[in-house]
Amino acid sequence: MKVFYRPELVAPAQHSSPSAHKPRLVVEDWIRHFGDAIEVLGFEPASDEQMGRAHDPDFVAGVLSGSLLNGFGNRDRRVAASLPFTSGSMVAAAEHAVLHREVVCSPTSGFHHAGYHNAGGYCTFNGLMVAALAVKDAGLVQRVAILDCDAHYGNGTDSIIRTLNIDWIEHHTQGLKFSTARQAASCAYESWLNAAIEKCLACDLVLYQAGADPHMEDPLGGILTTEQMATRDRVVFEKLGHLPMVWNLAGGYQVVLGDTEAQRIEPVLALHRQTANLHSEVFA
Ligand SMILES: [Zn+2]
Repeated sequence: MKVFYRPELVAPAQHSSPSAHKPRLVVEDWIRHFGDAIEVLGFEPASDEQMGRAHDPDFVAGVLSGSLLNGFGNRDRRVAASLPFTSGSMVAAAEHAVLHREVVCSPTSGFHHAGYHNAGGYCTFNGLMVAALAVKDAGLVQRVAILDCDAHYGNGTDSIIRTLNIDWIEHHTQGLKFSTARQAASCAYESWLNAAIEKCLACDLVLYQAGADPHMEDPLGGILTTEQMATRDRVVFEKLGHLPMVWNLAGGYQVVLGDTEAQRIEPVLALHRQTANLHSEVFA
């Protein structure tokens, strides 16, 4: 499994969200569990120009210089420094997926609440849209699917699509439909997912947010069981895996007692490990 990771995409833990430092813990966990099956690939950071296609360039410059708030509501320079690398990971993974017709991983989070002019909800720049626009502008794709299975509504993605009048992105966000386990019961979730997948089939690239926060025990989720989440990943990989695809981590907020940071977020690591395991199984 190819993973587009560089240490620079990690920023220190931010108040109430592990997403800034989660990538390092996830990649270390995968190497520990899967060894040589994990192939870590480097990449270039996204340029200001690439990020300025998905966002107001003044907003991009303001966040990077520390004059505007990031998605954590602060001006931490270390978060700003990590942002070209989180989007850069998505861009490089998307280019690789399309050029080699492969399914690859960008171990990133913190994208889908970022709108054209604004950060919010732990998201600063929308790496999904930065990557989609980069491969579209390079002439590598006609249509892109964003299949967002994070627990929350990808409002930032929708706002950028509307602002830029984009008609070539197929955007499906589970957060618009499901916020409780009751809503997702009786095959309602499976029906939604299958319908979304059906519409993604006509695209040249799939960006799949394999969020860990829909989980039953997640303080910001509470929707799907561990088994339902495994089925979700398996169905996406089996039905869309013949297309170029990048999957990422998106949200996940369960915390337990532990001595190390990895022990404290073990429930989240376990869910991402489950997705990585299914990737290996389906694409073996
Ligand atoms: Zn979320």
